[in-house]
Amino acid sequence: MIYLDHQASSPLLPKVLDAMLPYLTEEHANPHSDDHAAGWRAADAIAQAREKIAGRLGADAGEVIFTSGATEANNLAILGLCCEPVPRNRILVGAIEHKSVLAPARALSERGFKVITLPVDASGIVDLEALSRLLDDRVLLVSVQLVNNEIGAVQPVDRIAAMAHAVGALVHCDAAQALAWRAIDVNALGIDLLSLSGHKTGGPKGVGALYARHDVRVQLRPLIFGGEQEGGLRAGTLPTPLCVGLGVACASEPDDSAVRAWQGRRDSLRDFLRAHEPNMVIHGPVVGRHPGNLNVGFPGVDADQIIAQLQPDIAVSRGSACTSGIPEPSHVLRAIGLDAVACAEAVRISLGPLTTEQELERTAAAFARALLAARAEGRIAVA
Ligand code: PLP
Repeated sequence: MIYLDHQASSPLLPKVLDAMLPYLTEEHANPHSDDHAAGWRAADAIAQAREKIAGRLGADAGEVIFTSGATEANNLAILGLCCEPVPRNRILVGAIEHKSVLAPARALSERGFKVITLPVDASGIVDLEALSRLLDDRVLLVSVQLVNNEIGAVQPVDRIAAMAHAVGALVHCDAAQALAWRAIDVNALGIDLLSLSGHKTGGPKGVGALYARHDVRVQLRPLIFGGEQEGGLRAGTLPTPLCVGLGVACASEPDDSAVRAWQGRRDSLRDFLRAHEPNMVIHGPVVGRHPGNLNVGFPGVDADQIIAQLQPDIAVSRGSACTSGIPEPSHVLRAIGLDAVACAEAVRISLGPLTTEQELERTAAAFARALLAARAEGRIAVA
């Protein structure tokens, strides 16, 4: 199979697996057991992983809280900050945020907070003029992702943070889709809270982290109660192999030339597809998007039909795996102005850094066959 769904989940890097293996096979101790050397070794491995993650972000180890993924990190950032009634009760969230940001924000609107959606332009970039109009001393938190999972749009988080800080608001950034390919320095970007996911960046599934600046961390309240793990902010035994894997996945900065090559292959695929199908439309930003992201539509053919025709040889998707099965059109595509028909036609193709040119040529040919077959079949469903 040619796997082109890296934004849903990326393959585990061999070096990550190697680092995890001892903690899956030989080192069984609970990392919170401080009565014996095996427990100390597990605790030490977690401490090193925490250091690596913090180092990658330009943060202190004490500012990193392990979670089960970016979903939990987003929930902890938003609900954990807004547990108690506070004088500031407005939350601003980007219109194309992941559901794991939108849903906790929506939950807050039932608890007396006013949640306001920040509009985006046709490329998916937050409208900074609208943000400026909405920012005042009633705003507690602005939550804007670094990179979008469906259309690859990259937000100007540093500018957003500077604007938010000017009125005393805090900034949360969901960086789940950014870590695999770009540097993230929380201080340079001005981010107060930042969410990470292991499996979007060559790490394991089931682990992530929330960075919370020291002075913001003390304002957070836990969502999960039990033991005193993670300084009382997140009860539960830490999964040593997963934390070690996340540490290794985060450890090194992406190499610029490899990222440019990745983007170049994505552009080759776009050109191959367009050569077969000149009517193809591209959704999302023209430049500056995630290097592996392509979101395209073939007028007159539903994405479901194409994707089904490509099975079992090629894995692409309709969009976010977290919204698959939801019959409504993607809120991301809607927010950038697509109608229901164009949303139903959109296919997300997400390449990994090691996807080869040969795989892309085969993919383009398979798309051409799938489109022919889908057209012969006739349109089956329009959302
Ligand atoms: N945020 C973004 C932008 C994502 O793309 C995803 C996963 O699709 C998540 C959050 C959720 O991450 P996790 O699977 O680690 O909970």
